[in-house]
Amino acid sequence: MSIYEYVGNPHVHTPYSDGEALHAEVAQAAAKAGLDFVIVTDHNVWVDGVEGYYDKVLLLVGEEIHDVRRRPQANHLLVYNAEAELAPLASDPQGLIDEVNRRGGFCYLAHPFEYRSPISPDLVAISWADWDVTGYTGLEIWNYMSEFKGLMHNKLAAVYYAYFPARGIRGPFRATLRQWDELLSQGKRIAAIGGSDAHGTTYSLGPLRRVVFPYEYLFRCVNTHILTDRPLNGLLEHDKPLVYSALRAGHTWVGYDLPVPTTGFRFHARSGANYALMGDELVRTGAVIFEVQTPHSADIRLLLNGRVVARVRGRHLKYTTAEPGVYRVEGYRNYHLGHRGWIFSSPIYVI
Ligand SMILES: [Zn+2]
Ligand SMILES: [Zn+2]
Repeated sequence: MSIYEYVGNPHVHTPYSDGEALHAEVAQAAAKAGLDFVIVTDHNVWVDGVEGYYDKVLLLVGEEIHDVRRRPQANHLLVYNAEAELAPLASDPQGLIDEVNRRGGFCYLAHPFEYRSPISPDLVAISWADWDVTGYTGLEIWNYMSEFKGLMHNKLAAVYYAYFPARGIRGPFRATLRQWDELLSQGKRIAAIGGSDAHGTTYSLGPLRRVVFPYEYLFRCVNTHILTDRPLNGLLEHDKPLVYSALRAGHTWVGYDLPVPTTGFRFHARSGANYALMGDELVRTGAVIFEVQTPHSADIRLLLNGRVVARVRGRHLKYTTAEPGVYRVEGYRNYHLGHRGWIFSSPIYVI
């Protein structure tokens, strides 16, 4: 079976909400960063008519929906392929998710855990609050700007990390990973995406002015990689469903591509003649053999139901078991004097 890999960023803003770069400029920044696709998700506005290829980058349009009247703020939902304006449904998260699904779309809970920054009243924590919802495809387990907000403990830290973000960015919040494992343990199928949440905003502090952060920089950081069984062919009508079906199937991992690109990561399992990619279900017929490959050496961990069952420092992990459950992979690398999250795969569900 042939497998094709593409990398993109599924969480980006433009001036249609509170971002700085227009769609064509977003695509240009994505091209410079080497992305294959980028998905614009403006707040509470679905922008029709701009999807397509901009040179070699496929630009798609989803929407980030929330209830602007809710206090405290919570429940940002990333919606794709609904092909309609659904923001008026925001006050009822379950009703919104149901309508997304009814329209053939799919969705993720955005930045499910956040930490406020005390340096500005605008930098509130916008976590997910309504955890009993069902019918969503997954979680945005790693949101770069969300993590950055959490680093701004005070004004000095804000300035420091505005200039040296890579010294602060570490990986998904522990609370998010714990919640993900908890939901998986309830039998839910929950895929992972990661995004930049790029806005390109310029911040001033005294005489200092800095764009935090440029789109192109963010597109080199936390991305979502997808696997498809056919190649993209450069036509919107063909490639949009291909990208969306890979996301929907959870054939995904979240990669922090800045230290070294995660391109080439693979995680699959076999049992007899059955084969599963990340995101798939694997029916056991005797032993199950997991294989993980990383493009560079890493601290690779295979987790079963949230607990590490195998760990290797290197580029290859192989693990044989008979145990059913939810398996996922985490990879870490040393970078800027710290152990940094590098790869977080969607799960394989062994039954
Ligand atoms: Zn948001
Ligand atoms: Zn956003």
